[in-house]
Amino acid sequence: MTTAAPAGSGAPARRGSVKGAARSIYDLSEQDLAHHLADQPAYRGRQVWQALYGQDLRPEEMTALPLPVRHRLATALPPALAATAESVSADGGTVKWLWAGADGAAVETVLMLYPDRATACVSSQAGCAMNCSFCATGQAGFRRNLSSGEILEQVAAARRRAQPRRLSNIVFMGMGEPLANYERVWSAVERIHADMGISARHITVSTVGIIPGIRRLSHEALPVNLAVSLHAANDDLRNRLVPVGRRYPLADLVEACRQYTAAKGRRLSFEWALIAGVNDRPSDARELAAIAVPLAAHVNLIPLNPTPGYQVRGTDRDGVRRFRDDLRRQGVNATVRANRGTDIDAACGQLAARAAGEATDPVE
Ligand code: SAH
Repeated sequence: MTTAAPAGSGAPARRGSVKGAARSIYDLSEQDLAHHLADQPAYRGRQVWQALYGQDLRPEEMTALPLPVRHRLATALPPALAATAESVSADGGTVKWLWAGADGAAVETVLMLYPDRATACVSSQAGCAMNCSFCATGQAGFRRNLSSGEILEQVAAARRRAQPRRLSNIVFMGMGEPLANYERVWSAVERIHADMGISARHITVSTVGIIPGIRRLSHEALPVNLAVSLHAANDDLRNRLVPVGRRYPLADLVEACRQYTAAKGRRLSFEWALIAGVNDRPSDARELAAIAVPLAAHVNLIPLNPTPGYQVRGTDRDGVRRFRDDLRRQGVNATVRANRGTDIDAACGQLAARAAGEATDPVE
């Protein structure tokens, strides 16, 4: 899409630009925005910036602006993601949006509501190229990277919806592999931290285990939480469940994790989707403990959520408890993650951006 924005036009492709994505107002730097409003009083850029990042307002809602300015911004820089559907779980605690990018790329965001706060689970890519066998996003394949603006729009929408609760945490655990879209994810993280006021310690980047990305993260100034989707603690099994493991053997992955925690002082967590008879045996617990204990890593156990393309079932309730207790006896800090939003396909690994309509309410 072309916009009337003078900043950047005619210049070579910007770092944030993605083929197929419309340029979001959230892709603009504060300087770009000031440039865009060059005919306005000098304070205008700052005013719009604060309305965007401090109040999560859309340009047409910025009533403090003169009407023509509101119109101009709304027309030149409409949202890059249009809500196609919004679903709410039966208990009201989980909200899922399906969005369409300018090119029709489908993206999902999940908001988890707690009594006095909320967590947003955002997508970094439309689809995913990592191909984990049990993950619905992986089964659906990869479409494209999201721009920083598309990521930030998800956060702004979640923050609006969470009100009056505070959106306290952001987790990059939606669709896609954040470290395979590093620059755009990181620039979104910087804005979430600096401009939306959500501190780095409340932002979690989850990775399938892209070692160069983890190394890069350890050199960044902001100490975000790192979650690694481990799922298996020996290379044979891991390579079957998480094919990208073939490029990044466990021993090297563990070393990269060690360097990250040493550099950042942040807690590391391992995600482990418990699959019946596959990775829930006593030997799995032993191998996992051998990796997690020296790293003081927290283990998040997720009973496998059902997905159409993977026939093996999740570990049953007793099995999950047994595995957790087994880990704890071996000195691992392990918890079972509550399954939220299964009824609206919003649970871990279920994001597949199915066409809108099924069991969802259209957005007005
Ligand atoms: N690509 C990143 C971000 C995705 S996060 C990553 O791999 O970490 C989504 C989390 O849910 C990951 O830990 C993923 O492995 C897990 N997951 C995927 N499919 C699942 C399923 N069917 N049941 C439970 N967890 C699943």
